[in-house]
Amino acid sequence: MHQLLKDKAGKALEPGLLAPDTSGMNFYRADPALADLMRIYLPEALFRHVEPHLDRLGQLAGGHLDECARLADRHTPILHQRDRFGRDVQWIEYHPAYRELERAAFGEFGIHAMSIRERILGWPHRYPVVAKHAFTFLFNQAEFGLGCPINVTDGCAKLLANFGSEELKTKYLDGLTQTDMGKLTQGGQFMTEKEGGSDVGTLTTRALPEGDHWRLHGEKWFCSNADAKVVMLLARPEGAAPGTRGVGLFLMPRFLDDGSQNHYRIVRLKDKLGTRSMASGEIKLEGAIAYAVGRLDRGFVQMAEMVNSSRLSNGVKSTALMRRAHHDAMTVAANRVVFGSRIIDLPLGRRQLMKIALATEQALSMSFMTADALDRAEAGSQDAAALLRILTPTLKFRATRDARKVCGDALEMRGGIGYIEEFATARLLRDAHLGSIWEGTGNIVALDALKRAVGRHGAESALAADLHARLDDSIDVPAGWRDRLRGLTDRAVSFARAVAARNENEAEARRATSLLYHAASAVQLAWEAARIHARRGDARRLLLSRLVVDHRLSAGDPFRLAENRVQDAIASHLLGERDVAMAEVGELVLAA
Ligand SMILES: Cc1cc2nc3c(=O)[nH]c(=O)nc-3n(C[C@H](O)[C@H](O)[C@H](O)COP(=O)(O)OP(=O)(O)OC[C@H]3O[C@@H](n4cnc5c(N)ncnc54)[C@H](O)[C@@H]3O)c2cc1C
Repeated sequence: MHQLLKDKAGKALEPGLLAPDTSGMNFYRADPALADLMRIYLPEALFRHVEPHLDRLGQLAGGHLDECARLADRHTPILHQRDRFGRDVQWIEYHPAYRELERAAFGEFGIHAMSIRERILGWPHRYPVVAKHAFTFLFNQAEFGLGCPINVTDGCAKLLANFGSEELKTKYLDGLTQTDMGKLTQGGQFMTEKEGGSDVGTLTTRALPEGDHWRLHGEKWFCSNADAKVVMLLARPEGAAPGTRGVGLFLMPRFLDDGSQNHYRIVRLKDKLGTRSMASGEIKLEGAIAYAVGRLDRGFVQMAEMVNSSRLSNGVKSTALMRRAHHDAMTVAANRVVFGSRIIDLPLGRRQLMKIALATEQALSMSFMTADALDRAEAGSQDAAALLRILTPTLKFRATRDARKVCGDALEMRGGIGYIEEFATARLLRDAHLGSIWEGTGNIVALDALKRAVGRHGAESALAADLHARLDDSIDVPAGWRDRLRGLTDRAVSFARAVAARNENEAEARRATSLLYHAASAVQLAWEAARIHARRGDARRLLLSRLVVDHRLSAGDPFRLAENRVQDAIASHLLGERDVAMAEVGELVLAA
């Protein structure tokens, strides 16, 4: 018999037991911050309407869908060249678990259509993007691979609705926004060619006019959701200018009106590190029939709309991976006993948990701040449009990078078995590495933030104005802390301007983008804390604001022995479950 150990609360501990994982956890109920943020952004009636659905998705994502995701990740799609009668009809075979994930995302919850079609889940209107991404966030905690088809189907429908002719809309919009699985036509977005993913202006796919349509010739090198029924792609009409100016936007159906396959071939599927459940292929266009969408000379600009909404979605999905990793790490730390203590009671274990939690909470706040800016921009606010312009690449840059580290750290928290594919941590880490590659690599989105959003559009002024307004609006937050945040906001904005002002500073674009992200999240966390405290008396998000400042916006002397008293007290509050009032939190936030 081994000796029974006791934790600080006197509960018996059993050394040597492997920690459980998150199986059976309801990811909505386990995440009060999500409900808090929804209550901030959504009107009361809408919140009351979505909450039971979020609760159900949270339960499915922590159980049945998670098991489906595990299976779909192991049993990857297979490309077939012929049907069983020997006809040259290409098709992709998916494991039933992937089909079940599709049924939940598209059929039951209709995540792809929420912001476009009315009456999804019984709500008479379209949902704001904030509400839609609450569903994205929960679903992707179970399954990240299908997150791409959901988002791209949504993006295709949006592009079509915004720029397509009435004829194209009549033909394709209903299928893209269907929740009836028999009528649904999923979307794809094929831009990347061998010549360039980042440098899209080099693409060589040609479009030749033929009657009321176009014929496409060329090759697309990375095509996720490879068998999508409706694809938005970029190609250069014959005789058009070089570079991105000469690129047109086209809609390419998988099937022609007579039911035959359009003239393009999936040459092979990619053998990927992550998102293995979802089929990404290489595609040869052999005279494929396609239709021009919007103005031909505005193809790239129009596609940029879809790219930007995908960048936001990527930020949310990377946040979902972090939250899942965070849940896993907390479950391990609270249950695994090492050297006679639970990991959560050991100083380095707590420090590791706080690092995981901080990046996750920052990303959560920034995701919904950005989604809200999109909702307000779509409602006509010019200020929100400028804010969105800078927040989108900033979120995409930092959250996708943080997800790599957070998922790696959570894997390590589980020890050796975290590295074993039976546990979700290995899959999370593999998936996390994709977020910062597609829809613009880290360098590309940092350059977008600095050179275009700041350098060309001056969008940092909108960010500064927004953050100052949030601080002015948070009078319950101690004045000293608000002053500190005002100063840091101004420094981050000035630094971004200085970097954007000179080409020689280009190598600092990533650092400047990170500083904008950290300053914005520190303010946003304080602003949220004031609101949550006013509603239910808990100001703990303000402690995260302090941690952002201490660990992301301050350069310390690496040789100085840290004074850990304040950090330990903050960790105790954040790792505990007790609500903490603003007075107590305020003292801690200002403590030296
Ligand atoms: C699993 C997966 C699925 C994908 N699905 C799709 C899809 O469905 N549709 C689609 O269109 N694409 C898709 N992509 C492609 C993806 O968007 C591109 O791979 C990505 O944009 C990078 O392009 P690239 O591979 O050509 O790399 P490159 O553009 O050649 O980049 C190589 C490196 O150069 C760096 N770089 C480029 N320009 C600069 C610069 N100016 N300054 C500094 N560094 C720079 C990049 O940051 C990168 O590190 C997918 C990719 C993956 C991995």
